[in-house]
Amino acid sequence: MPDKKNEKNYPSNFIRTIIENDLASGKCKKVVTRFPPEPNGYLHIGHAKSICLNFGLARDYGGVCHLRFDDTNPTKEDVEYVESIMEDVHWLGFDWQDKLFYASDYFDQLYEYAEMLIKDGKAYVCDLSQEEIRATRGTLTVPGTESPYRNRSVEENLDLFRRMKAGEFEEGSRCLRAKIDMASPNVNMRDPVIYRIRKAEHHRTGNKWVIYPMYDYTHCISDAIEGITHSLCTLEFEDHRPLYDWFLDQLPVPCHPQQIEFARLNLSYTVMSKRKLLELVQSGTVRGWDDPRMPTLAGMRRRGFTPEAIRDFVDRIGVAKADSLVDFELLQFCVREDLNKKANRVMAVLHPLKVTIENYPEDQVEEFEAINNPEDESAGIRMVPFCKYLYIEQDDFSENPPKGWHRLSPGAEVRLKHAYYITCKEVIKDESGNVTELICTYDPSSRGGWTPDARKVKGTIHWVSARHSFDAEIRLYENLFTIPNINDIEEGKDYRDYLNPNSIKVLKNCKLEPSLKEVTIGEKFQFLRQGYFSVDYDSTADNLVFNLIVTLKDSWTKQLKKMGYV
Ligand code: ATP
Ligand code: MG
Repeated sequence: MPDKKNEKNYPSNFIRTIIENDLASGKCKKVVTRFPPEPNGYLHIGHAKSICLNFGLARDYGGVCHLRFDDTNPTKEDVEYVESIMEDVHWLGFDWQDKLFYASDYFDQLYEYAEMLIKDGKAYVCDLSQEEIRATRGTLTVPGTESPYRNRSVEENLDLFRRMKAGEFEEGSRCLRAKIDMASPNVNMRDPVIYRIRKAEHHRTGNKWVIYPMYDYTHCISDAIEGITHSLCTLEFEDHRPLYDWFLDQLPVPCHPQQIEFARLNLSYTVMSKRKLLELVQSGTVRGWDDPRMPTLAGMRRRGFTPEAIRDFVDRIGVAKADSLVDFELLQFCVREDLNKKANRVMAVLHPLKVTIENYPEDQVEEFEAINNPEDESAGIRMVPFCKYLYIEQDDFSENPPKGWHRLSPGAEVRLKHAYYITCKEVIKDESGNVTELICTYDPSSRGGWTPDARKVKGTIHWVSARHSFDAEIRLYENLFTIPNINDIEEGKDYRDYLNPNSIKVLKNCKLEPSLKEVTIGEKFQFLRQGYFSVDYDSTADNLVFNLIVTLKDSWTKQLKKMGYV
């Protein structure tokens, strides 16, 4: 559900209520939020929700939002991801100014705090293996069992921890654990691991460290070091909050941020897990992180989705405490709404059928005025050339038309957009009976698309001049998966079993009107009667490539209205 707007035109939701109360009571003077991605993949539309939320709150309440890379796992992280994340946050329209941080910048401080915990008897070095730790953790109903190493002396713990740091022990042979409560009803409080040995090069600290802090330990301390006031995270961290608070309560940190959980965004017909997205990329199922079928921001940008549309989408879905699956149609609706205002209308024929106007002079060329965007007068007009030979869409002709057919058929008359009325006189076929050409006549008095006798035609179709148009490649996209909820699949099946084999279709030799020769990468158009298209990065001077951004059909608008989204 979209959040209701308050008198300042801010959406109101439970997080904003908390912040407004904290500002009013003086508990918080200036709002400081953060967006904390782990650089182990590209950002996706779910991250966009978090970005808009964190940066949006900082903007609306006169605060700041930090960008912090949560880079504590050297084996999965990479500078490529760091760079893509920065690019995507900027593209979405947000800026962290000079507030760019890395959790790895705090490794020294985190280490010092860990020694403090040891000296206070609140952490110990444990020699159990990862599997043994898991096995002795207990379950929701059964308490865990204490590690035989739990009561080591402070001196022994300090010595072992320092030697872990010095690289004396093998990976997995030892770890540092918080000493909390193995019988706690909250499994997260049962002596969680806070440091592990990892002999891997880190993309920022190189080989300086062979021990790395765990997420739960790092995150709360990083928040506190940066003076974060409201630390927003997704619902699955609700049960980690006691641990977040525990670490901050034990340590002499500069402040104690408030963790607040909200529902993560799930979108239908796609996946949001970075692990699965990485698999799709590495297996070559998609052409990369920025494949236009991907739910990544890089993929959506390449496809032609706009940051304005994505921000509008995030506003419409609102912030709540219950997980839900949002329909991809809503995002597509937002993209249409935005492009309708911005994209120039042009004519392109995706599946060409040749038309010859038999009564039109062989060498004559006329130019017709065409409005670029009826929604935006400032977009002006352009001239579209017309001649004896044209292409229309194969779908716009039917030899045996069904009832109610308003397009071309033998003997029928239609309007060619911006040009003339034509009537189909003859159908030419090849040996196998396929229609290869239509012979038509035109009515010279219908110039510009209207006749003096105001004769009505029911259908208007788009076209291009065969002599003036040029060939281009058009890539059509459908959903990446065939079922809405990819987390809810039959037993024994894998999410990859539900990949849509028609998620991409490449059309060559599409016919485009000549004005499209002068386009730039990323430029967006409405191809009349077809949809919105963008110029792909793969375009070269002699082979322009267009991506289908979204079709014009929005059978969903009614449904979305009913649900209160639009
Ligand atoms: P993982 O932890 O499995 O690698 P993640 O999706 O949590 O993946 P992070 O890089 O840790 O990825 O996410 C950065 C921030 O974005 C976190 O604060 C996280 O809560 C938020 N976030 C991630 N996915 C979503 C989502 N689907 N909806 C809303 N927020 C999300
Ligand atoms: Mg995470």
